[in-house]
This record gives sequence, structure tokens and C-alpha cells, in this order.
Amino acid sequence: MTLIEQIDALLPQTQCTRCGYDGCLPYASAIVREGAAINRCPPGGQPGVEALAALLGREPLPLDPACGSDEDAGVAWIDPQACIGCARCLPVCPVDAIIGAARFLHTVYEADCNGCELCIASCPVDCIHMRPRVVGQAAPSAADNRGRYLRHRDRMRREASERSALLAARKRTAPPPAAAR
Ligand code: SF4
Ligand code: SF4
Ligand code: SF4
Repeated sequence: MTLIEQIDALLPQTQCTRCGYDGCLPYASAIVREGAAINRCPPGGQPGVEALAALLGREPLPLDPACGSDEDAGVAWIDPQACIGCARCLPVCPVDAIIGAARFLHTVYEADCNGCELCIASCPVDCIHMRPRVVGQAAPSAADNRGRYLRHRDRMRREASERSALLAARKRTAPPPAAAR
């Protein structure tokens, strides 16, 4: 396992970007390649900083408050009265915890929601809100987050590739412009 992979293995895998990087693996890479500080992951909290410090032989600094709080953000909830079914929140969720289709009401499968809050800014009618988890429901584990994120990433890549192929096929079969006939 590379050092970057060892660091990534210590991160919570919510992909929330609160560290200022585009996900957990990019943050792990920045720690190794750019000397990024190890205290920038709020979901990992102080235990996470200390685990990184032990691995890297660095000072276990206090969590950087500029990156956010280590309190559980809870789960996302979609107001059914306000959702317009635009589906903009679907691709944004790194663990595919939002269920719905274009022009239909969307909802959050709370057991899979890791509280990353990335969906909130995607909603044009501000109908996504965070609320506490139901009593006794634990936040998803890093292993669960990682598995769901990898499936999400693969699906997004596959769909982008299918869209490109469709566009290329349409261009090939499109009639030539009038001036070229
Ligand atoms: S879980 Fe931590 S390392 Fe991963 S994206 Fe969020 S802040 Fe960054
Ligand atoms: S539903 Fe929203 S808060 Fe929950 S994991 Fe998905 S994007 Fe993050
Ligand atoms: S972005 Fe907002 S309005 Fe659009 S489907 Fe998602 S929750 Fe509904």
C-alpha cells in the first residue's frame, strides 16, 4: 500500500470536501505531495488527526476550525411540499443516498446519508435541510462510504462515456449544413 493509500484508509470517506480538496483521496495526496496540514478533516475529528500524526510522525495539531465542526451534521431531508423533481441533487450525492427521477418527488435514504451536505447547494428551491439522525441510527462507516462512493463514481463515469458516445453517433448521422450540400 502506498503512503497516500495508507492516509486515505484513515479518512472517513464522506467525500464532503470540507478539507478544501475534492474528496478524501485528493486530500491524502495533498498531504503527501504538497505537505498539506493533517488537521483539515472535520468528520474524522481529533482522533483522525491523531491517527494521521502517528502514521506520518507529525505534530497532532488541533482540528482546524476553519474547515468546520466535527459534530455530526445529521442527515439530509427533502421537503416533499417544495421539491420540484429537477433531479439536480442526484449526481451530487457521493454515496447515491438520494432516490428519485426527473419530474418526481425525491427523497433521502437516511441510512446511507453520511451528512456531507453537498446536496444542499445543488437544490434550486432550497428544499433540502439537515436534521438529526433518528435515535440509535449510527452514521455510515468509512467502509460503507467508500463502497458507495466507488459505485457512484463508476456509474458517473459510465454515464458520461455513454453520453459522449451518443453525441458522437448523432454528429455522424446528422445531415450536412445546407451550405455544404
Ligand atoms: S471526509 Fe475528511 S478528507 Fe474526506 S473529503 Fe471530507 S474533510 Fe476531506
Ligand atoms: S443525501 Fe446529501 S447530505 Fe446525504 S450523503 Fe447525499 S449529498 Fe450528502
Ligand atoms: S434539487 Fe431540490 S427540487 Fe430538485 S429534485 Fe433535488 S430536492 Fe427536489
